[in-house]
Amino acid sequence: MPVPEPSLPDLDRVLEEVAEIARPHAFEGEVADYIPALATADADRFGMAAVDLDGTEHVTGEVDEPFPIQSISKVFSLVLAMQKVDQAEGVANELWSRVGREPSGDPFNSLVQLERESGVPRNPMINAGALIVDDVLLDHCDDAKQATLDLLELLAGEPLELNEGVLRSEQGAAHRNRAMANLMASFGNLTHEVDEVLDDYTHACAISMTTRQLARATRFLGNGGVEPRTGERILSPALAKRAAAIMFTCGTYDAAGEFAFQVGLPCKSGVAGGIIGVVPRRMGLCVWSPPLDVAGNSLAGRIALHEFVSRCDLSIV
Ligand code: GLN
Repeated sequence: MPVPEPSLPDLDRVLEEVAEIARPHAFEGEVADYIPALATADADRFGMAAVDLDGTEHVTGEVDEPFPIQSISKVFSLVLAMQKVDQAEGVANELWSRVGREPSGDPFNSLVQLERESGVPRNPMINAGALIVDDVLLDHCDDAKQATLDLLELLAGEPLELNEGVLRSEQGAAHRNRAMANLMASFGNLTHEVDEVLDDYTHACAISMTTRQLARATRFLGNGGVEPRTGERILSPALAKRAAAIMFTCGTYDAAGEFAFQVGLPCKSGVAGGIIGVVPRRMGLCVWSPPLDVAGNSLAGRIALHEFVSRCDLSIV
């Protein structure tokens, strides 16, 4: 007998309960400070949103407060690159010959593996991999920065802005990312100027979105690649599955195994404390709480996702 799809409890009530449990844990984490503008984030901000495919929005906390999406942008840059080069759904093309699809087991900004593996990053969810994705986008978009913003505006259903302060702060602190880009260039795995690639990358990280907008923007990945509000196809079902699969195995860096164990959904985190989650055929999730755990994922955010998914029986595994 197949196990039936679970019927959902009252999601608004569940979110309230989850927020109450998760919020106090924020103080066990640390707000990222290697990008100076992120260090001033309020540790006690917390928001969580679950947006159904039919558009119903369940929310708790500060869900309309914008924050820089940081590495969450890596999902959407990958989606754009898939739109451009993956149409034939091949597994060996100009994207996948230059970046892998395996978890790294290393921190998101580590250089060690990159040297050992000849400048081919393990996956597009770590910084080096996202730089390769941006390099590919520069070949295929007239304006790659605008293309990323346009995609996110379409998915969020609202105009978005950049956080200029975070952009400038990150531009002045991009030493590791610059080192990675140079290392990849030395192996012949970068086709544009290091500065041009870094510029696109930092712009994507500085896009400012709210928890509610990010939950909306994540839904198409659980809806066979179709944006549910407009019916617009963003990716084929096969490519949407692939994007979600990479989130599941690589989206939370060297804690991806722990996320699969505890949360059981494709997730992607950013150092400003946001985490998005895909609930296939049901909803998009986003949680935001700035303090991070040692792997660079929102500490209270992980707890909130674990509690939410457990109470609603939504894990995919
Ligand atoms: N902009 C950040 C960086 O390059 C993104 C990292 C993250 O969100 N994990 O370090």
